[in-house]
Amino acid sequence: MELGTEKVVTRFAPSPTGLMHIGNARTALYSYLWACKNGGKFILRIEDTDRQRLVEGAAEEIIQTLQKLGLRWDEGPVYQSDRLEIYKEYAQQLVEKEFAYEKEGAVWFRVPKDGTTSWTDLVGSKEVVIQNSLHDDFVMLKSDGYPTYNFAVVVDDHLMGVTHTIRGVEFISSAPKHIMIYKAFGWELPKFAHLPLFLGSDKSKLSKRHGAKPASEFLKDGYLPEALLNFIALLSWTPPDGKEIISLEEMEQTFDISKAHLTNPVFDMEKLDWMNGEYIRRMSDEELTKMLQEYLVDHPAKDKIAPLVPLVKERIKKLSDFVPLTNFIFEKPEYEAEVFQKVKLDSLNVQEVLRKIVERLEKMERPWSSEKFEETFRELAKELNLPAGSIFQLIRIAVSGQLVTPPLLESIEILGETQALARVKFVLSSYPNF
Ligand code: GLU
Repeated sequence: MELGTEKVVTRFAPSPTGLMHIGNARTALYSYLWACKNGGKFILRIEDTDRQRLVEGAAEEIIQTLQKLGLRWDEGPVYQSDRLEIYKEYAQQLVEKEFAYEKEGAVWFRVPKDGTTSWTDLVGSKEVVIQNSLHDDFVMLKSDGYPTYNFAVVVDDHLMGVTHTIRGVEFISSAPKHIMIYKAFGWELPKFAHLPLFLGSDKSKLSKRHGAKPASEFLKDGYLPEALLNFIALLSWTPPDGKEIISLEEMEQTFDISKAHLTNPVFDMEKLDWMNGEYIRRMSDEELTKMLQEYLVDHPAKDKIAPLVPLVKERIKKLSDFVPLTNFIFEKPEYEAEVFQKVKLDSLNVQEVLRKIVERLEKMERPWSSEKFEETFRELAKELNLPAGSIFQLIRIAVSGQLVTPPLLESIEILGETQALARVKFVLSSYPNF
């Protein structure tokens, strides 16, 4: 093959030991993007040879998550457990060449006792040099006939023509073993890229308490696949023009693995929320309605949400925010006296003010226009010597049970004036014992 014409081949090689970690989503994304950028091939390989740590259904979950994220592979999924004969054959070759030996039913790799193993990592163009003497001989093939990760990964990356091995930095300590195996076979090395660990907002290793969760949980919480990918991409890479909002398509054209950052990225949940909100706001009302309807599969009134969408679009950061914000439209609120006590009423009490509100609402000509509504309650505020905001807040809570809602009158329009008035009356008669 001519120099420079070699096709780029990358792979994502998860072990099905649980749900897909959000850090692994970055590995998958970068491997996918680098193949796309070069018109290459992206392989999905399930590394299911550690039978003790195998979790039933995990491979399927990982595959589904990749599909939901929109990361498409060109080859696979290849399951290593289907390839045991291949590993056995290659292990045998190393035994014959005396790079490996058999002991107690297992095949062991014979680590050279002197010299060093080195490579230049693509992340940060960092030269890594390791003394071989630091490594002990290690198992390649276990007595149960399954290969170890270290052996299978090399055989497969080689046979599948992988040119760029992209993975998390937790595997950097295994790379010397891999390189020793490549050398024993006389195979060409792929380029290695070991991506740095995520940190939490307090700069310690990212964990649950920072909001970390499996990739699929983010989707369940109503983060959009494109927003999540955009956010993850930017954790260890900066697009050429420094832009923050970048589509998957644009990333496919501009991504560069050799520009991946060496520093540990901070997984900033607030930034993710902001970014997701941006993606939501950029959608048309129709698109967002459709997306919400798909997301809210079990919502009893999902066919009736369309009029609410323009009201909430600026106010939700993720799809799941829609429900708490709008539930009062679809069902009678659960009232709590403490929420009413948050409204500043000076020396007046909640019932007194509510009584006046009910009087005015009953008298107000229907349909309640926003001018009339404003005028009426500003007047009342003046009369009672209260800030107008307090009156509107009290109406809001009486109608919805909550302090924050989409715009009040527009919400009432959707709820219906009769229903809104009935709720205010109910509160008047039952406060503070709901
Ligand atoms: N199976 C390894 C994992 O669990 C893959 C590491 C690699 O990409 O080499 O992530």
